Amino acid sequence: MSLSHLVQFLRQSLQRIESIFIQTAGFERNFGPALAVHGPVLLPQQNSDVSSEPSFLDNIFWMAAPKKRRTIEVNRCRRRNPNKLIEVKTNIVPCPVCGHLKQKHILCGFCYEKIQRETAMIRKQIAVMEGKPLNAPAVETVVLYESETPGDADKDKRIVERNRKRPSWFKL
Ligand SMILES: [Zn+2]
Repeated sequence: MSLSHLVQFLRQSLQRIESIFIQTAGFERNFGPALAVHGPVLLPQQNSDVSSEPSFLDNIFWMAAPKKRRTIEVNRCRRRNPNKLIEVKTNIVPCPVCGHLKQKHILCGFCYEKIQRETAMIRKQIAVMEGKPLNAPAVETVVLYESETPGDADKDKRIVERNRKRPSWFKL
């Protein structure tokens, strides 16, 4: 056997071994040219993520649950504890202006609301006088009600005239 025959024999046996390896690894013997593409961009991919399926547990807001039941006696003792009850107020007096009940050291809510409403009306009238926002003159403003005349001190002031009688509680 010459050297070229030996080389031929070795090459053939190597090819045989190679083909056996390829077949056991699960590949076909004859490879063809393949086109490599970037899959996710071009081809629709199956969503293999199982955990992304909507579960009925997603909509549940988990909270701590009591481990033992508390008896109604224990619950009532807790709820009616004297420390938790609202304190009885002894400082409630009638308002000297309108007579509604109020707390001694607190403004009367009824009177406050009355003044708030009157002030809102005055503000509205001032807005109509000014015509547009940020158009207020840089002088003091005095509010005059019906049958009131501006005094000497009100000469340089802006006068807002209200066409109604001055309320008794709306003092100067
Ligand atoms: Zn009052």
